[in-house]
Amino acid sequence: MSESTLEALGGGAARPAEFGHDALVVCDSLVRIFQSGSVEVQALQGLDLMVDDGEMIAVVGASGSGKSTLLGVLSGMDAPTAGRVRVGRWDLMAVGTRERVAYRREMVGFVWQQTSRNLLPYLSARQNVRVPMTAGARRARAARADELLDLVGVGHVADRRPQEMSGGEQQRVAIATALANEPQLLLADEPTGELDTATAQDVFDALRTANLEAGTTVVVVTHDPAVSAQVERTVAIRDGRTSSEVLRRDADGDVTHEEYAVMDRAGRVQVPREYREALELTRRVRLALEGDHVSVRPDGGARSGSRREVVR
Ligand code: ADP
Ligand code: MG
Repeated sequence: MSESTLEALGGGAARPAEFGHDALVVCDSLVRIFQSGSVEVQALQGLDLMVDDGEMIAVVGASGSGKSTLLGVLSGMDAPTAGRVRVGRWDLMAVGTRERVAYRREMVGFVWQQTSRNLLPYLSARQNVRVPMTAGARRARAARADELLDLVGVGHVADRRPQEMSGGEQQRVAIATALANEPQLLLADEPTGELDTATAQDVFDALRTANLEAGTTVVVVTHDPAVSAQVERTVAIRDGRTSSEVLRRDADGDVTHEEYAVMDRAGRVQVPREYREALELTRRVRLALEGDHVSVRPDGGARSGSRREVVR
Protein backbone atom coordinates (compact mmCIF):
# COMPACT_ATOMS: atom_id res chain seq x y z
CA MET A 1 0.00 0.00 0.00
CA SER A 2 1.46 3.35 -1.01
CA GLU A 3 1.70 6.31 1.31
CA SER A 4 -0.94 8.17 -0.62
CA THR A 5 -3.33 5.25 -0.19
CA LEU A 6 -2.70 5.34 3.55
CA GLU A 7 -3.50 9.02 3.58
CA ALA A 8 -6.67 8.44 1.61
CA LEU A 9 -7.69 5.96 4.30
CA GLY A 10 -7.41 8.66 6.92
CA GLY A 11 -3.99 7.64 8.24
CA GLY A 12 -2.39 10.88 7.10
CA ALA A 13 -2.48 12.66 10.43
CA ALA A 14 -1.75 9.67 12.66
CA ARG A 15 1.94 8.71 12.83
CA PRO A 16 2.73 5.03 12.60
CA ALA A 17 3.63 3.50 15.98
CA GLU A 18 7.32 3.76 16.82
CA PHE A 19 9.32 0.67 15.77
CA GLY A 20 9.10 -1.82 18.66
CA HIS A 21 7.22 0.61 20.90
CA ASP A 22 5.74 -2.14 23.07
CA ALA A 23 8.97 -4.14 23.52
CA LEU A 24 11.22 -3.82 26.60
CA VAL A 25 14.43 -3.90 24.57
CA VAL A 26 14.74 -2.45 21.08
CA CYS A 27 17.97 -2.41 19.09
CA ASP A 28 17.52 -0.80 15.71
CA SER A 29 20.40 -0.93 13.20
CA LEU A 30 22.89 -0.94 16.02
CA VAL A 31 26.51 -0.31 15.05
CA ARG A 32 29.57 -0.57 17.29
CA ILE A 33 32.96 0.13 15.80
CA PHE A 34 36.11 -0.43 17.83
CA GLN A 35 39.18 1.51 16.85
CA SER A 36 42.45 -0.06 17.87
CA GLY A 37 45.34 1.84 16.37
CA SER A 38 44.72 2.11 12.64
CA VAL A 39 42.49 -0.97 12.64
CA GLU A 40 38.72 -0.61 12.72
CA VAL A 41 36.63 -3.53 13.92
CA GLN A 42 32.90 -3.46 13.20
CA ALA A 43 31.67 -5.59 16.09
CA LEU A 44 27.99 -4.77 15.46
CA GLN A 45 26.99 -4.06 11.88
CA GLY A 46 23.38 -2.93 11.97
CA LEU A 47 21.95 -5.32 14.52
CA ASP A 48 18.19 -5.46 15.08
CA LEU A 49 16.71 -7.07 18.17
CA MET A 50 13.49 -6.83 20.12
CA VAL A 51 12.82 -8.46 23.47
CA ASP A 52 9.43 -8.35 25.14
CA ASP A 53 8.96 -7.67 28.82
CA GLY A 54 8.97 -11.00 30.67
CA GLU A 55 10.70 -12.94 27.90
CA MET A 56 13.75 -15.16 28.32
CA ILE A 57 15.88 -15.48 25.21
CA ALA A 58 19.18 -17.11 24.33
CA VAL A 59 21.73 -15.41 22.08
CA VAL A 60 24.07 -17.72 20.18
CA GLY A 61 26.80 -17.17 17.60
CA ALA A 62 30.41 -17.96 16.76
CA SER A 63 33.24 -16.45 18.76
CA GLY A 64 33.77 -12.86 17.66
CA SER A 65 30.26 -12.46 16.23
CA GLY A 66 29.44 -9.55 18.57
CA LYS A 67 27.52 -11.18 21.43
CA SER A 68 29.51 -9.62 24.28
CA THR A 69 29.52 -6.28 22.50
CA LEU A 70 25.73 -6.41 22.38
CA LEU A 71 25.50 -7.22 26.08
CA GLY A 72 27.98 -4.46 26.88
CA VAL A 73 25.71 -1.96 25.12
CA LEU A 74 22.56 -3.30 26.80
CA SER A 75 24.25 -3.19 30.20
CA GLY A 76 24.99 0.51 29.76
CA MET A 77 28.72 -0.11 30.17
CA ASP A 78 29.48 0.56 26.51
CA ALA A 79 28.01 3.12 24.12
CA PRO A 80 27.09 2.22 20.53
CA THR A 81 28.61 4.07 17.57
CA ALA A 82 25.33 4.46 15.67
CA GLY A 83 21.78 3.19 15.55
CA ARG A 84 19.13 3.19 18.21
CA VAL A 85 18.90 1.27 21.47
CA ARG A 86 16.16 1.64 24.02
CA VAL A 87 15.56 -0.36 27.21
CA GLY A 88 12.35 0.50 29.00
CA ARG A 89 12.23 4.28 29.26
CA TRP A 90 15.98 4.62 28.72
CA ASP A 91 17.31 5.73 25.37
CA LEU A 92 20.88 4.46 25.66
CA MET A 93 22.12 6.56 22.72
CA ALA A 94 21.06 9.75 24.44
CA VAL A 95 21.71 9.19 28.17
CA GLY A 96 24.41 11.20 29.92
CA THR A 97 26.94 9.81 32.37
CA ARG A 98 24.81 10.31 35.47
CA GLU A 99 21.74 8.73 33.90
CA ARG A 100 23.88 5.84 32.71
CA VAL A 101 24.92 5.15 36.30
CA ALA A 102 21.27 5.25 37.39
CA TYR A 103 20.32 2.95 34.51
CA ARG A 104 22.92 0.41 35.57
CA ARG A 105 21.81 0.53 39.17
CA GLU A 106 18.05 0.43 38.64
CA MET A 107 17.35 -1.29 35.36
CA VAL A 108 19.88 -4.07 34.68
CA GLY A 109 21.70 -6.88 36.41
CA PHE A 110 24.74 -8.55 34.88
CA VAL A 111 26.40 -11.96 35.24
CA TRP A 112 29.80 -12.62 33.63
CA GLN A 113 31.25 -15.92 32.47
CA GLN A 114 34.25 -15.73 34.78
CA THR A 115 32.98 -16.74 38.21
CA SER A 116 35.75 -14.69 39.86
CA ARG A 117 34.58 -11.50 38.15
CA ASN A 118 31.07 -11.57 39.64
CA LEU A 119 31.74 -11.65 43.37
CA LEU A 120 34.01 -9.91 45.85
CA PRO A 121 36.34 -12.62 47.23
CA TYR A 122 36.58 -11.30 50.79
CA LEU A 123 32.80 -11.11 51.37
CA SER A 124 30.31 -13.85 52.16
CA ALA A 125 27.51 -14.70 49.74
CA ARG A 126 25.02 -12.74 51.83
CA GLN A 127 27.32 -9.70 51.97
CA ASN A 128 27.93 -9.89 48.21
CA VAL A 129 24.20 -9.81 47.49
CA ARG A 130 23.81 -6.79 49.78
CA VAL A 131 26.58 -4.73 48.15
CA PRO A 132 24.53 -3.32 45.26
CA MET A 133 21.35 -2.83 47.30
CA THR A 134 20.28 0.78 47.48
CA ALA A 135 16.85 0.67 49.07
CA GLY A 136 15.53 -0.43 52.43
CA ALA A 137 16.71 -0.51 56.02
CA ARG A 138 19.66 -2.68 57.03
CA ARG A 139 17.60 -5.50 58.43
CA ALA A 140 15.26 -5.55 55.44
CA ARG A 141 18.27 -5.78 53.16
CA ALA A 142 19.70 -8.72 55.05
CA ALA A 143 16.36 -10.53 54.87
CA ARG A 144 16.06 -9.77 51.18
CA ALA A 145 19.57 -11.08 50.50
CA ASP A 146 18.62 -14.38 52.14
CA GLU A 147 15.40 -14.53 50.14
CA LEU A 148 17.30 -14.07 46.89
CA LEU A 149 19.84 -16.74 47.80
CA ASP A 150 16.96 -19.11 48.60
CA LEU A 151 15.22 -18.22 45.35
CA VAL A 152 18.19 -19.43 43.27
CA GLY A 153 18.79 -22.46 45.49
CA VAL A 154 21.94 -21.43 47.38
CA GLY A 155 20.58 -20.44 50.79
CA HIS A 156 23.05 -22.92 52.32
CA VAL A 157 26.12 -20.90 51.25
CA ALA A 158 24.96 -17.55 52.71
CA ASP A 159 27.87 -17.37 55.16
CA ARG A 160 30.55 -18.73 52.82
CA ARG A 161 33.04 -16.76 50.79
CA PRO A 162 33.36 -17.45 47.05
CA GLN A 163 36.43 -19.68 47.46
CA GLU A 164 34.39 -21.94 49.76
CA MET A 165 31.75 -22.52 47.08
CA SER A 166 31.62 -24.58 43.87
CA GLY A 167 31.64 -22.78 40.53
CA GLY A 168 27.92 -23.37 40.08
CA GLU A 169 27.16 -22.02 43.55
CA GLN A 170 29.24 -18.93 42.81
CA GLN A 171 27.31 -18.29 39.61
CA ARG A 172 24.00 -18.66 41.40
CA VAL A 173 25.13 -16.23 44.08
CA ALA A 174 26.13 -13.94 41.20
CA ILE A 175 22.58 -14.20 39.84
CA ALA A 176 21.17 -13.36 43.29
CA THR A 177 23.53 -10.35 43.42
CA ALA A 178 22.45 -9.24 39.95
CA LEU A 179 18.82 -9.38 41.15
CA ALA A 180 19.54 -7.33 44.30
CA ASN A 181 17.88 -4.15 43.03
CA GLU A 182 15.04 -5.93 41.27
CA PRO A 183 16.23 -5.09 37.76
CA GLN A 184 13.73 -5.46 34.96
CA LEU A 185 16.44 -6.90 32.70
CA LEU A 186 19.01 -9.57 33.58
CA LEU A 187 21.95 -10.04 31.21
CA ALA A 188 24.22 -13.07 31.43
CA ASP A 189 27.27 -13.52 29.18
CA GLU A 190 28.06 -17.24 28.92
CA PRO A 191 27.35 -17.75 32.62
CA THR A 192 27.78 -21.52 32.32
CA GLY A 193 30.88 -21.41 30.12
CA GLU A 194 33.27 -22.53 32.87
CA LEU A 195 30.98 -25.22 34.31
CA ASP A 196 30.27 -28.90 33.66
CA THR A 197 26.90 -29.93 32.25
CA ALA A 198 25.12 -30.81 35.50
CA THR A 199 26.26 -27.63 37.25
CA ALA A 200 25.41 -25.58 34.18
CA GLN A 201 21.86 -26.86 34.41
CA ASP A 202 21.59 -25.60 38.01
CA VAL A 203 22.72 -22.14 36.90
CA PHE A 204 20.35 -22.17 33.99
CA ASP A 205 17.50 -23.20 36.31
CA ALA A 206 18.36 -20.20 38.51
CA LEU A 207 18.04 -17.86 35.51
CA ARG A 208 14.77 -19.51 34.63
CA THR A 209 13.53 -19.01 38.21
CA ALA A 210 14.48 -15.33 38.04
CA ASN A 211 12.44 -15.13 34.85
CA LEU A 212 9.38 -17.05 36.02
CA GLU A 213 9.19 -16.09 39.69
CA ALA A 214 10.69 -12.61 39.78
CA GLY A 215 9.32 -11.75 36.33
CA THR A 216 12.75 -10.55 35.20
CA THR A 217 13.39 -10.39 31.47
CA VAL A 218 16.48 -12.51 30.74
CA VAL A 219 18.96 -12.35 27.87
CA VAL A 220 21.54 -15.13 28.12
CA VAL A 221 24.49 -15.56 25.76
CA THR A 222 25.44 -19.20 25.49
CA HIS A 223 27.44 -21.73 23.51
CA ASP A 224 25.46 -24.53 25.07
CA PRO A 225 22.85 -26.02 22.69
CA ALA A 226 21.15 -27.61 25.72
CA VAL A 227 20.44 -24.12 27.08
CA SER A 228 19.08 -22.70 23.87
CA ALA A 229 16.85 -25.78 23.55
CA GLN A 230 15.13 -24.79 26.80
CA VAL A 231 14.14 -21.22 25.99
CA GLU A 232 11.23 -20.11 23.83
CA ARG A 233 13.38 -18.05 21.49
CA THR A 234 16.99 -18.27 20.41
CA VAL A 235 18.51 -15.44 18.42
CA ALA A 236 21.58 -16.19 16.30
CA ILE A 237 24.12 -13.45 15.62
CA ARG A 238 26.43 -13.65 12.63
CA ASP A 239 28.96 -10.95 11.76
CA GLY A 240 27.38 -8.41 14.09
CA ARG A 241 23.83 -8.89 12.86
CA THR A 242 20.89 -11.00 13.96
CA SER A 243 20.68 -13.67 11.27
CA SER A 244 18.07 -16.17 12.41
CA GLU A 245 15.68 -16.99 15.22
CA VAL A 246 14.53 -20.36 16.48
CA LEU A 247 11.17 -20.44 18.18
CA ARG A 248 10.29 -23.31 20.44
CA ARG A 249 6.60 -23.99 20.61
CA ASP A 250 4.76 -26.34 22.89
CA ALA A 251 1.61 -27.42 21.11
CA ASP A 252 -0.29 -30.09 23.05
CA GLY A 253 2.86 -31.02 24.89
CA ASP A 254 4.88 -31.37 21.69
CA VAL A 255 8.09 -29.41 21.59
CA THR A 256 8.85 -28.14 18.13
CA HIS A 257 11.66 -26.00 16.89
CA GLU A 258 11.11 -23.73 13.97
CA GLU A 259 13.91 -21.72 12.45
CA TYR A 260 13.17 -18.33 10.97
CA ALA A 261 15.36 -15.94 9.01
CA VAL A 262 15.29 -12.40 10.34
CA MET A 263 14.13 -9.58 8.10
CA ASP A 264 15.25 -6.07 8.98
CA ARG A 265 13.21 -2.93 8.61
CA ALA A 266 14.49 -2.36 5.08
CA GLY A 267 13.38 -5.88 4.10
CA ARG A 268 16.87 -7.43 4.02
CA VAL A 269 17.12 -11.17 4.72
CA GLN A 270 20.27 -13.26 4.95
CA VAL A 271 20.13 -16.43 2.86
CA PRO A 272 21.99 -19.26 4.65
CA ARG A 273 25.32 -20.26 3.13
CA GLU A 274 24.21 -23.83 2.37
CA TYR A 275 21.25 -22.53 0.33
CA ARG A 276 23.49 -20.09 -1.52
CA GLU A 277 26.00 -22.79 -2.33
CA ALA A 278 23.41 -25.38 -3.33
CA LEU A 279 21.86 -23.09 -5.95
CA GLU A 280 24.98 -21.02 -6.69
CA LEU A 281 23.21 -17.87 -5.60
CA THR A 282 25.69 -15.03 -5.91
CA ARG A 283 25.52 -11.29 -6.34
CA ARG A 284 22.21 -11.05 -8.22
CA VAL A 285 19.17 -13.21 -7.64
CA ARG A 286 15.68 -13.22 -9.08
CA LEU A 287 12.81 -12.59 -6.68
CA ALA A 288 9.20 -13.34 -7.49
CA LEU A 289 5.97 -13.07 -5.57
CA GLU A 290 4.31 -16.47 -5.84
CA GLY A 291 0.91 -16.04 -4.26
CA ASP A 292 1.65 -17.01 -0.66
CA HIS A 293 5.45 -16.96 -0.77
CA VAL A 294 8.44 -15.29 -2.36
CA SER A 295 10.92 -17.29 -4.43
CA VAL A 296 14.63 -16.57 -4.78
CA ARG A 297 16.25 -17.93 -7.94
CA PRO A 298 19.77 -17.82 -9.37
CA ASP A 299 20.46 -15.07 -11.84
CA GLY A 300 19.87 -15.98 -15.51
CA GLY A 301 16.69 -17.92 -14.86
CA ALA A 302 18.42 -21.30 -15.13
CA ARG A 303 15.45 -22.84 -13.31
CA SER A 304 12.85 -21.27 -15.54
CA GLY A 305 12.49 -23.20 -18.81
CA SER A 306 10.82 -20.54 -20.91
CA ARG A 307 13.35 -17.93 -19.82
CA ARG A 308 16.27 -20.15 -20.83
CA GLU A 309 14.80 -20.59 -24.32
CA VAL A 310 14.49 -16.85 -24.74
CA VAL A 311 18.11 -16.35 -23.68
CA ARG A 312 19.37 -18.96 -26.14
P1 ADP B 1 31.69 -12.55 20.98
O1 ADP B 1 31.29 -12.19 22.37
O2 ADP B 1 30.53 -12.96 20.10
O3 ADP B 1 32.77 -13.57 20.94
P2 ADP B 1 32.71 -9.84 20.87
O4 ADP B 1 31.51 -8.98 20.98
O5 ADP B 1 33.53 -10.01 22.08
O6 ADP B 1 32.29 -11.25 20.26
O7 ADP B 1 33.66 -9.26 19.74
C1 ADP B 1 33.20 -8.91 18.44
C2 ADP B 1 34.35 -8.34 17.64
O8 ADP B 1 34.75 -7.08 18.18
C3 ADP B 1 35.60 -9.21 17.65
O9 ADP B 1 36.22 -9.11 16.40
C4 ADP B 1 36.43 -8.58 18.73
O10 ADP B 1 37.80 -8.80 18.50
C5 ADP B 1 36.09 -7.12 18.59
N1 ADP B 1 36.20 -6.37 19.86
C6 ADP B 1 35.46 -6.56 20.97
N2 ADP B 1 35.79 -5.69 21.95
C7 ADP B 1 36.79 -4.93 21.43
C8 ADP B 1 37.57 -3.82 21.94
N3 ADP B 1 37.37 -3.35 23.16
N4 ADP B 1 38.51 -3.30 21.11
C9 ADP B 1 38.70 -3.77 19.87
N5 ADP B 1 38.00 -4.78 19.33
C10 ADP B 1 37.04 -5.36 20.09
MG1 MG C 1 31.86 -12.97 24.23
